[in-house]
Amino acid sequence: MSLWWSLIDRPTFSPGSLDQRWDVVIVGAGFSGLWSAHHLLTADPSLNIAIVDSSHVGSGASGRNGGWMSALYPRSDESLAQTSSASEIAQLHAELRNSIDAIGEFAKAEKIDCGFSKGGSLVIARHQTQLSRIRDDVDEHTHLLSADETKARINMSGAVGATFTPNCARINPAQLVLGLAQSLARRGVSIFENSPAHIGMDKSVEVDGKKLDTQIVIRATEAYRQRTRELIPIYSLMVATQPLPQEVFDEIGISENETFAEANHLITYGQRTPDNRLAIGGRGAPYTFGSKRNLASENYKKIHDHLRTMSMSWFPILKNFEFTHAWGGAVGITRDWSPFVRFDGTFAELGGYAGDGVTLSYLAAKTLSELIHGKESTRTHLPFVQWQSPTWEIEPLRWLGVNSAIALSGLADWEEQHRSKPSIVAKALARMMGT
Ligand SMILES: Cc1cc2nc3c(=O)[nH]c(=O)nc-3n(C[C@H](O)[C@H](O)[C@H](O)COP(=O)(O)OP(=O)(O)OC[C@H]3O[C@@H](n4cnc5c(N)ncnc54)[C@H](O)[C@@H]3O)c2cc1C
Repeated sequence: MSLWWSLIDRPTFSPGSLDQRWDVVIVGAGFSGLWSAHHLLTADPSLNIAIVDSSHVGSGASGRNGGWMSALYPRSDESLAQTSSASEIAQLHAELRNSIDAIGEFAKAEKIDCGFSKGGSLVIARHQTQLSRIRDDVDEHTHLLSADETKARINMSGAVGATFTPNCARINPAQLVLGLAQSLARRGVSIFENSPAHIGMDKSVEVDGKKLDTQIVIRATEAYRQRTRELIPIYSLMVATQPLPQEVFDEIGISENETFAEANHLITYGQRTPDNRLAIGGRGAPYTFGSKRNLASENYKKIHDHLRTMSMSWFPILKNFEFTHAWGGAVGITRDWSPFVRFDGTFAELGGYAGDGVTLSYLAAKTLSELIHGKESTRTHLPFVQWQSPTWEIEPLRWLGVNSAIALSGLADWEEQHRSKPSIVAKALARMMGT
């Protein structure tokens, strides 16, 4: 169980009967499904909406993640420029930044105690090659910090510099996903937990072998969708410490609750939690053959051990404290790393956030609501709208390619650390992934 859920006495929902006429049925009660209901209802409060989830609200990535509410987008501007104009790309980034504030205001208005704290985000370089790489990220919203300026914000061992952007908040994601669901239930949305749905070839939806009567179906299952080549599950794992005393933060900083990451190729990240723990995550667990959901990959001991060791190498003072939680979950990645929001008149789907879904799901759902309501806006021209990525390779090529890419990302970090030069492996990898 994630740290976040372990701190919550999770209530259940009492929605009544599924056997009625719905305007919209949403499959998946994570951020994508719940924000879709929120935006649809905001535009038309008369809608009769059901949300079905095979497990419970936020049981997928939404209740397990690192709680970075960032303005990150998984594709680079360079690759977006192949199909989008400069103004569309600028609009995308502005919408993401605005979404952080919109979610913060929503949480405040609904009195959701999710620890929203917009302290910005640091990406820390621990050697010169990382430093020269993060220089490329500097723009009007992201600036470079010297080694001393970095230390004033975060005392990570070996830091030689960092980038800082104010556009990130830290949250407890399970509190947000639960608060959002409770707010929707108060507005009349029916949430059915423990209700696995089957979406047929004709895009109709069945629960318990019964076809639901609905005008529109939304698939919001992201990495937890089975048997598809449209996106693959890649595992992200996390560990968390016990609540830490003030002396630890006197030593390591992050006094404004900045989220932080090392400038690695194999993603690693962390946050100071609302109850003063450190929650630290990273990739590296193997992809499973056939994209099968795999509990072993969510709890891959080697990566959990690595994350604890890495945390103590970042902040040696952590050696004196206990790591109390370890968990993991899957993120959904399309072949070109592009998120998608699609609607064909009766069937809609959204996802493919590649590990950046906490803010992006809000924006994707808002855009989807506009598409469904037939409203044109600047959002309905964003790069992810009606986007169709190429499918992933068939097995065993997919298994070989994806696991090689995971291994090569680790190798690229090793290469940079030991050779003090930009990694050749990383360059080849970026070309191979086309991001
Ligand atoms: C460990 C980890 C750390 C992460 N850290 C961050 C972070 O710091 N910042 C960030 O932006 N993103 C992060 N992410 C990614 C982010 O959590 C996801 O992008 C986002 O939560 C996706 O939301 P979603 O609603 O689309 O999918 P999910 O939350 O995965 O929800 C999908 C839901 O669909 C349900 N479902 C699946 N199949 C069916 C079915 N047949 N019938 C009914 N229900 C079904 C599942 O039970 C699940 O509840 C992280 C992810 C993980 C796993």
